[in-house]
Parts: sequence; structure tokens; C-alpha cells
Amino acid sequence: MEAFSSIAKIQSALQSNQIKLVELVDFYLKRIKEHQNLNAFIEVFSEEAIRAADVIQQKITVGNAGRLAGLVIGIKDNICYLDHKVSAGSKILDNYTSPYSSTVVERLLAEDAIIIGRLNCDEFAMGASNESSYYGPVKNHADNTRVSGGSSGGSAVAVQAGLCLATLGTDTGGSVRQPAAFCGVVGLKPTYGRISRYGIIAYASSFDQVGTITNNIEDSALLLEIIAGKDDYDSTVSSLPVQNYLKGLKAETGKKRIAFLAESLSSSGLDPEIKEAFLKSIKRLEEEGHVVEPVSFKYLDYVVPTYYILTMAEASSNLARYDGIHYGHRSTLATNLENTYKKSRSEGFGVEVKRRIMLGTFVLSAGYYDAYYAKAQKVRSLIRSKTEEILSDYDFIILPTTPTPAFEVGVKNDDPVVKYLADIFTVQASLAGVPAISLPMGNNSTGLPLGIQLLGKRFGESELLNFSQYFMEII
Ligand code: GLN
Repeated sequence: MEAFSSIAKIQSALQSNQIKLVELVDFYLKRIKEHQNLNAFIEVFSEEAIRAADVIQQKITVGNAGRLAGLVIGIKDNICYLDHKVSAGSKILDNYTSPYSSTVVERLLAEDAIIIGRLNCDEFAMGASNESSYYGPVKNHADNTRVSGGSSGGSAVAVQAGLCLATLGTDTGGSVRQPAAFCGVVGLKPTYGRISRYGIIAYASSFDQVGTITNNIEDSALLLEIIAGKDDYDSTVSSLPVQNYLKGLKAETGKKRIAFLAESLSSSGLDPEIKEAFLKSIKRLEEEGHVVEPVSFKYLDYVVPTYYILTMAEASSNLARYDGIHYGHRSTLATNLENTYKKSRSEGFGVEVKRRIMLGTFVLSAGYYDAYYAKAQKVRSLIRSKTEEILSDYDFIILPTTPTPAFEVGVKNDDPVVKYLADIFTVQASLAGVPAISLPMGNNSTGLPLGIQLLGKRFGESELLNFSQYFMEII
């Protein structure tokens, strides 16, 4: 069987009886096996995927299948699915089984998607290379010596290597967009509050957002349409109606006003080939009659520190629940209450997670709260209002997704700050809560994929997806 590149193509092949759904599931299961070395999946739900294929095939035959019938999808290992294991890539939750399903999983299943397995990720979604996972790093399919990006590394590589058609990830500061860029696929982080976080293992709750990783814009649009929208279980979800994103893609784009951040191009860590490809893309837009202008964003140097102070503070609070009593791993050396906490947490968490819990606790502590946490909140609000000001004057902000292509496994592990700086272009959208998408921008001279990012107005997913569709055709 040839690999299918979109949900629509699969559905038309199923409709015309060209393929059977069980054959498609078999095809992906075989590919997953052949590419086990990539370490993208933590667990594959083989038998139940085959069973689901039979049930959904019958629905297709009688004509009452859901809108996602034919979609074989993988989910990041921090998305809860009833009676399935979920570990957030951590030893502390190894072998933990979820007692309920997240809203996004419920909505996928209600439309007859087949969930084929759970995907490797950085521990508690903290990282940009998938190297902090308890289950080991994920390898980039373009070059196995390189990282997948993170934290949704397994989600990006699964789409890149064709192990399933699409995946869900989560994006707190770039975790959908950055691995998508490293793997040459499409990664969408919607507006904060567009998709329910119910059943998503929390990292930093005022940033966390579910996102999609796909081969194309149509599939992102359809998936978003289905998983987005009001949810009684998450009061931070907006009640704004979900638009018909897929249908909207056929609309004319018209001439747009697009801003790029002057400071992003003078950023010292920016790879010359990425800069060149980025400038070329801007030129293409200008040739097509769009206005592309530099704007000054003097906060660029502050986005990474602000993001890390706030997310570590939120993480230190969110991860307090892993105490050896309520959830997951309990140390066999525990003899009393205090050492149950200490030993279970010391054994269960990895280095990066411990670092963030300690720093987060520090920035929230009485003597330092004002100097760090309260200050970072103020800077966040400046970043948000400046971003909104730019987006009131322009339709989109355009940025490279990452300052470098995928780096080698193991090289950025000595100094955590070096890795944090890799998030320089993705955290702005997260701090501001606006939607952002990473699109493939070709490969560099050694064949590594590059990504370009568009930021849109709050709840402007329709315009963002529509323009992305057009943009992918012209670059
Ligand atoms: N790299 C960022 C971090 O480590 C982003 C992670 C994410 O979006 N989950 O926090």
C-alpha cells in the first residue's frame, strides 16, 4: 500500500472500496515496527486499533461513519485516555493507567478516529529535544544522529516517518511547533483557551495548549474543528463558536500586512541558512503583493527568561501532586510520610524536572517572589500587549520557528540555558496566548528540515490556516 498524505485521500479511497480500513491500520503497524529505532512510540495499541478498524469499516459501509473515519492518529504521552497507560515520559508515572479520557480524546473517538498509540515526549513536556524522556530520546527521521525536537518529539517524528497520519501534541512554549520544524511537518498551536486542557497532564497551566501535527493544512483545520470548543470540564476554554476551519480554506486570502521582528534577524544565535531561507520567503510574499515590514520588538531578549520563570513556578505547583501517595511511583525505601515524599520524588523525577521544580519553588519563595515571579508577570503583560499592538496593525507576525536546525543528540545537555535559548522564537506566542503555526520551509544544505512560523490574532485560527494554505503553495 502506498502512503496516504491526507485524511481526504484516505476517505475517498475507503469510500470507493480501494482499501479496507484494517489494511490501512496494518500498514501503519508494519511501518511502526520497521522504524522502531526512531523510538517515537512508547506504546502501540495494535489489537484495539485493528478491532476499531472493523467496527468503523462497517459504519463506512452503511454510511454512518464519523468525520474522522479513516484517520489513524497517535497521541502524546501526556494526553489521558481511559484505561490506557499515560506517563508524561516520566518514571514517576511509569505504568500508571488513566481512569478517564481527556476531552480531546473523547472528541476524536466520537468522530471515529483510530488512536494507534502513545508517543514519546520530554518528561512532563519539559524540553526541546525529547532527550529528557524516561524512555530515551526520539531520533529525527531525516538524520538519526539528530534530535527530533521536543517536547512532542514522538508526535513530530511519527508524522515525518509516516507511522500514522497525524498526531496530537501539546505546546507550552513551542513543543508542537519546534519539533514540527525539525521534522519538516506542519505544527499548529491554537490560541490559549481554544482547546480544552481537561485530561492533559499539566506542566504550566496558563500556557499549556493542545496542538496538531500533520502533513498539510487541511488535516490541521479538520482536527482543530473537531477538538476545539467549549468544555464544561475546563473553565479556561473560550465559548466563542468554533469556525468551519476546513471549509474556510477555500477562501481568497487577499493582500496581507505582515510584520517581522527586526531583532529576530540580528539575533546572534540565528543560523545563516535559516536566515537566508527566511529572507527568501519574505521576498516571495512581497513579490506576491503583500506588505512585509520590520517592526521593533525590544523584548526579544526577555521572552526566554520570562517564559522560564513563569513556567517553572507553575510546574513546581502542578508537580506537587506526584508525592508517592496519590500517583505513580512510590519508593520501596519509604518508611514514613516525609521520606515517602522525598525518596519517591527523588527516584521518580529526572534531572531536568527536578531542576525546574527547585527553581520554580525558589522564584515563588517569600524573599524572592517580587524580584522574580511578580516581575516576570509584569513583563509577560508587556510582551502580550506589544504583541497585540503589532497584531492590531498587521495580519500576521512572521518568524523563523527555530534559530537552528535539529542539533545532534547529546550535544546541548551540559548547559540547560543553551537549550532554553533554542525556544527564542516560539515562546512569544505562548506568553501572549496567540495562535501560531510552523510550516515547512525546505531543507538546509545537509538535508535537515527548516520551519517558518506565523503568529495570528487571538482566535484568528481561520485566517491563520487560510493564509498558511496559500503560503505553502507559494514558498
Ligand atoms: N522547550 C520549552 C520548555 O522546555 C517548551 C516546552 C513545551 O512547549 N512543552 O519548556
